[in-house]
Amino acid sequence: MKYILSLDQGTTSSRAILFDKYGSVVSSAQREFAQIYPAAGWVEHSPQDIYGTSVSVAAEALARAGVSAEDIAALGITNQRETALVWDKFTGEPVCNAIVWQCRRTAFDCEKLKKDGLTDFIYEKTGLIPDAYFSATKIKWILENVPGAKARAARGELLIGTVDTFLMWRLSKGKIFATDYTNAARTMLFNIRTLSWDEELLRLFDIPACMLPKVMPSGSAFGFTDKSVFGFSVPVCSAVGDQQAALFGQLCVDEGDVKNTYGTGCFLLMNTGSRAVKSKNGLITTLGASLSKPQYVLEGSVFAGGAAVQWLRDGLGIIKTAEESETLARKVNSNGGVYFVPAFTGLGAPYWDSEARGTITGITRGTTRNHIVRAVLEGIAFQVSDLVSAMQRDAGTEICRLAVDGGASKNGFLLQFQADILGCPVRRPKIFETTALGAAYIAGLYTGFWKDVEELKNLASSDTVFNPEMGEAERAKLLSGWREAVRRALSPQ
Ligand code: ADP
Repeated sequence: MKYILSLDQGTTSSRAILFDKYGSVVSSAQREFAQIYPAAGWVEHSPQDIYGTSVSVAAEALARAGVSAEDIAALGITNQRETALVWDKFTGEPVCNAIVWQCRRTAFDCEKLKKDGLTDFIYEKTGLIPDAYFSATKIKWILENVPGAKARAARGELLIGTVDTFLMWRLSKGKIFATDYTNAARTMLFNIRTLSWDEELLRLFDIPACMLPKVMPSGSAFGFTDKSVFGFSVPVCSAVGDQQAALFGQLCVDEGDVKNTYGTGCFLLMNTGSRAVKSKNGLITTLGASLSKPQYVLEGSVFAGGAAVQWLRDGLGIIKTAEESETLARKVNSNGGVYFVPAFTGLGAPYWDSEARGTITGITRGTTRNHIVRAVLEGIAFQVSDLVSAMQRDAGTEICRLAVDGGASKNGFLLQFQADILGCPVRRPKIFETTALGAAYIAGLYTGFWKDVEELKNLASSDTVFNPEMGEAERAKLLSGWREAVRRALSPQ
């Protein structure tokens, strides 16, 4: 057995990567699929696209490397989180399209939960703040709006799952009906303290318990793919939500370890070990990936990260490519007093102001596009720094380094500034595909393909590290300028 196959079922594409014993990429394949927008703010995926693209990229990755499924020690699955599906237990036929995490169709129901005073009740059990992102209200919507679904559910004819569950069920031809702790924790139906589906929440959302999958550790013997799928039965040994997979792929397995993914938005996750930390700053408490009892994680997100760079390119048109932002930012030796708060759709943690709007402060006659571009990159780092501070306060833990990944982490200026403003080293791994890598690591550790985390740490030795170089006075001056800019971006109270 020479390889681990990792399947990364994301929001816009499905990707398969074959890893060898050294944790190196042997081959990969990727396929995009359609985003379906049936109404304003609604987002759906075809379940057949989710499954079909997953199987085809896996087959393609194997074919490219000239590898047979027989040589796969284990399959690991990582997936877009919260997206919900409901299908027929006997035929496998979905009752409707998958409702995607971004879909806002149940926003009103979540507002009602808040008005009814259920925020604390839900937060205590699930670690989540009621929102349409999470699966519970999506499933309730399907059962109430698809003709006949409610009655079929009551008769025990339908099954519910997040994407991992649906994929495993299909790949095994109905033999695996399971999920892992990280995916279950995003449904808003799972009690992260008792580690079980919560009866009171199931009653609140009117969802029959018999529809729900068995919840297992992320590294588990989930079962085998059916022989007809890849020509050989492959053991499925990991299932894990994408952000938690990235945290594991970064080997943030100890309490206090933190990673940030710089994508369109940013996702910051801190491992808090056996402590389910309650946040006073609007962060989410969730479960991390493990091979046994799960660890707890604090999670926060920045709405506009790389999106601010896209705006420079597509909105303002002052850069041609995202990469150019680095060259321009380096042409000036400071931001020249210019600060950019990318509050395009409001500001999230720790400000939580949905009416805040994007703001540029400190423009003078001497301001050039280089200063603006630099201020945009700095603005991404400042927002991450605000989240890190909130997490440190909540967890009572000082972070001593930040692991990073995602498209915008290619930008060396951004990462150096991040290290400077945090005052701690920022570490970027050689393999950017930390999500797929995380699912592979977990599956590989479970099967004994890799011995332990120490072995994996040795494989990951060729990272790039950005060490802080900025003096304390300079850092304090910049942070104070940023705070003033945020103050101006916030809506009038
Ligand atoms: P997602 O998974 O959210 O689609 P990716 O991880 O693919 O995001 O990252 C894409 C984002 O990264 C885009 O918003 C893009 O503007 C930004 N980006 C890509 N390369 C760079 C770069 N060199 N400098 C700054 N931002 C970049």
